[in-house]
Amino acid sequence: MIPPRLHASLDAASVAALAVAPAVLPMSPATGRALRLTALGLAAYSLFTRYDGRHAGGLNLNEHRVLDAAQGVAFCVAAAMQDSRALRTAMGGYGVLCLGAAALAAPLPAPGVALPSLALTGVKMDRVTEVAADLAYLRTGIVNVAFIGRPDAGDWVLIDAGLPGCAPAILRAAENRFGRPPVAILLTHAHFDHVGALQVLADHWDVPVYAHPLERPHLDGDASYPPAAPEVGGGTMATLSPLFPRGPVRLRARVRDLPADGTLPMLPGWGWLHTPGHTPGHVSFWKECTRVLVAGDAFTTTQQESLRDAVAQAPELHGPPAYFTSDWAAAEASVRKLAALEPDVVVAGHGPAGAGLRFRKALHELANGFARIGLPPASRYLGQPAEPARLS
Ligand SMILES: [Zn+2]
Ligand SMILES: [Zn+2]
Repeated sequence: MIPPRLHASLDAASVAALAVAPAVLPMSPATGRALRLTALGLAAYSLFTRYDGRHAGGLNLNEHRVLDAAQGVAFCVAAAMQDSRALRTAMGGYGVLCLGAAALAAPLPAPGVALPSLALTGVKMDRVTEVAADLAYLRTGIVNVAFIGRPDAGDWVLIDAGLPGCAPAILRAAENRFGRPPVAILLTHAHFDHVGALQVLADHWDVPVYAHPLERPHLDGDASYPPAAPEVGGGTMATLSPLFPRGPVRLRARVRDLPADGTLPMLPGWGWLHTPGHTPGHVSFWKECTRVLVAGDAFTTTQQESLRDAVAQAPELHGPPAYFTSDWAAAEASVRKLAALEPDVVVAGHGPAGAGLRFRKALHELANGFARIGLPPASRYLGQPAEPARLS
């Protein structure tokens, strides 16, 4: 995959090469004029291209790719008509390069829904961000872990376990907020960025880990997640996704199934909902009486495929992290299910917390327009969900 920034550099280099070639290579005046004209044309459509996909107007990268492909075909045809072998090779090579750039250009991400600051919520307290009396979250690098329970009294649980190496940060935040250990760790799903510190934390607190039965193979050491889909595009996170660990982790003795009836006995008032799609056993946590939702990766509030956004946490509502989502029809159904709850406060696995009418409006927009603003432009799993990969 060629990320947009590299694509822009290649275009600039091509303009320079096309402009210089007539002076360097032996060719007829007509061919020289054609190359200079092509350099001008390429410079023009490159200048009008929105490589970052953000702003209105001009060409988007997908339209740009069509022009790259047309240029590639034209050069391959013109190369075949040249008498000079050097020119045939140079023009043919450039034609193939253009076709390659068109084929391998990383596509634009799904556009997502803008989240104005009035759709966000949270009060920074010590290390965590509190969004309700019994809900706070801690950002560990590019992913959130959530704390459910009141700081002053009663049981509490940790939702998800962040990136590998973040156990000390989670322990410090938990000690600050509660000063006592949790009664359990609950998982939305078992992707590497949600279970990184799980073993260390579960051992430290000596607590059980609850997950949906369909996530068990990824926690029992039985199965890896299916391969990532870097073709979803959208940025460096997507491009690098084939390098991300796919598990499994081995926690067999500690793992328990979430209660089949959707309740959470250790957390009165809270329940869990099956929200598959991102992974088969993905769940979200929901407190009906205060309409508070911990959504996991059912959707994100920042564009997780872009490393820049994932680090800067630019607020924007998107579907689940696309490179790791293995069933898009189920993912859409899960977004609809969560939007229909009309949540008032929402913590997602990636991005800042959302709240209120404006957030609900954005969530409905995502649910209702999912085909247009939630689906990636390409994925091997579009229309064809993945089978979980079994370890032999
Ligand atoms: Zn995930
Ligand atoms: Zn995630």
